[in-house]
Amino acid sequence: MKAVTHELPQVVRNLVAGSWHDSSTLDRRSPVTGHVVSQAAQATTAHAKDALDFAAMSASEVAGLSPAARADILESASLLVEESQREIARLLALELGKPVRDGRGEALRAAETLALSAAEARTIGGEVLPSAGWERGVGTTAMTFRSPVGVVVAITPFNAPVNLLAHKLAASFAAGNTTIVKPPPQAPASSVRFVELLIEAGLPTTAVQVLHGGPDLGEVLTGSPVVAAISFTGSASAGHAVARNAAGKRLILELGGNAATIVCEDADLAEAAALCARTGFSNSGQSCISVQRIFVPRPMMDDFAGRLAAAVSELRTGDPLEETTDIGSMVDESAAERVLRWAKDAERDGAELATGGTRNGATLEPLVVVDPARDATIVREEVFGAAVVVLPYDDFDEVIRECNRSSYGLQAGLFTHDSRRIFKAWRELQVGAVVVGGTSNFRLDNVPFGGVKDSGIGRESPRWMIDDYTYVKTLLWKNESVWGVTR
Ligand code: NAD
Repeated sequence: MKAVTHELPQVVRNLVAGSWHDSSTLDRRSPVTGHVVSQAAQATTAHAKDALDFAAMSASEVAGLSPAARADILESASLLVEESQREIARLLALELGKPVRDGRGEALRAAETLALSAAEARTIGGEVLPSAGWERGVGTTAMTFRSPVGVVVAITPFNAPVNLLAHKLAASFAAGNTTIVKPPPQAPASSVRFVELLIEAGLPTTAVQVLHGGPDLGEVLTGSPVVAAISFTGSASAGHAVARNAAGKRLILELGGNAATIVCEDADLAEAAALCARTGFSNSGQSCISVQRIFVPRPMMDDFAGRLAAAVSELRTGDPLEETTDIGSMVDESAAERVLRWAKDAERDGAELATGGTRNGATLEPLVVVDPARDATIVREEVFGAAVVVLPYDDFDEVIRECNRSSYGLQAGLFTHDSRRIFKAWRELQVGAVVVGGTSNFRLDNVPFGGVKDSGIGRESPRWMIDDYTYVKTLLWKNESVWGVTR
């Protein structure tokens, strides 16, 4: 069963109730060449209704698969995705302008996410509770297990459409659920290829359906009473709309950020600058934890900014299909234009553009913006593009307050060896995680990931997702006890 044809443009369809369905298509143009690279059949209202009905019907069948069987399928899928890394990377380069080296990295992370989910599937369990520890419970036994929630909706953004789908779909299946996937309109073929590989590995089509569309389709799915849990990754505004629509359902929101990285006096400036250059611009900065605001002690700021600008200017911007390219394009021309405009606005108000800023369509030479006003848009809002800002600070307490002034709180980076500062930052920064010895842009797929404030709710990584995708179900046995009954 194939939804992708292998000549360009790739044509992808909706997977509903076990078969692929055509309908009128939406073109995805390469942000680099402008050519149509994929065409996705847009789900109709009837497709959505059929998919929801089928999911409701299939949930108990999927829950009936043994955890071992689910784990075996996910392990096979992990191997297939690893073997298909080049094909996936090519699709990501065509649809998104992501450099193939980064695309292969994403595919390998997705393979690992599948393997991690398999391992979690094997260990889902429950507990025997100490029900007889209190007088009214003497003579009873109480046990729990984690029961699948049933129907899950997974909505993914464009920037890492394969690994983020891996997190949602694999953990949902590991937990024993059926999932309706709504991929981003910018990466339909990459997303569908990933789903196809899972099906090739044995994922039953009772456990997955795919519907292509935009916010309207998303609203139909997230509002449906059939759906028990929604895992959404995307912008804060869309996430808040999902939350309003979801009323009463399990909700995991992974939203935006404008992550801070703090460099302290004792840091190795060369190392910090090199890491900020590399992780501030991977995927053209289109990562929710991309380095955006770099805080540097005032006396060291010029030195740091010079080193950073030098390292950034060595990054190779170009064709995402070339092995040697570090920076491909952004998702579209208007995104690149927006980032450049924000940088120019900051420059007009006194900031220095230390490097970058040439734009060719959707491709933006990476920008380093030094000492913009604290209320500049490029500091306050989520940049989600090829620009970082360098900001001076005078005092560690002050910089913690400054980081927390953001409406977002996803991750922060910290370069210091001072354990008091490390613990203070861990305690006081309003973020989901602090990375010590690195920038904000570092994620391990087996470590809880997620934010606070406008960055979302919930923690994504297989172990924590399985908690969200299952509920605790209790058996209360009144007349038999594993515990002693003598009073
Ligand atoms: P987006 O919000 O525009 O779209 C994300 C997905 O939501 C798409 O599939 C879109 O079609 C769908 N959608 C939009 N409105 C909807 C609605 N009302 N109801 C249901 N679905 C709706 O985001 P994007 O531009 O694709 O991605 C970039 C954003 O995602 C950034 O803000 C980035 O920080 C965030 N992001 C967060 C994480 C994280 O883990 N926290 C990871 C990656 C990206």
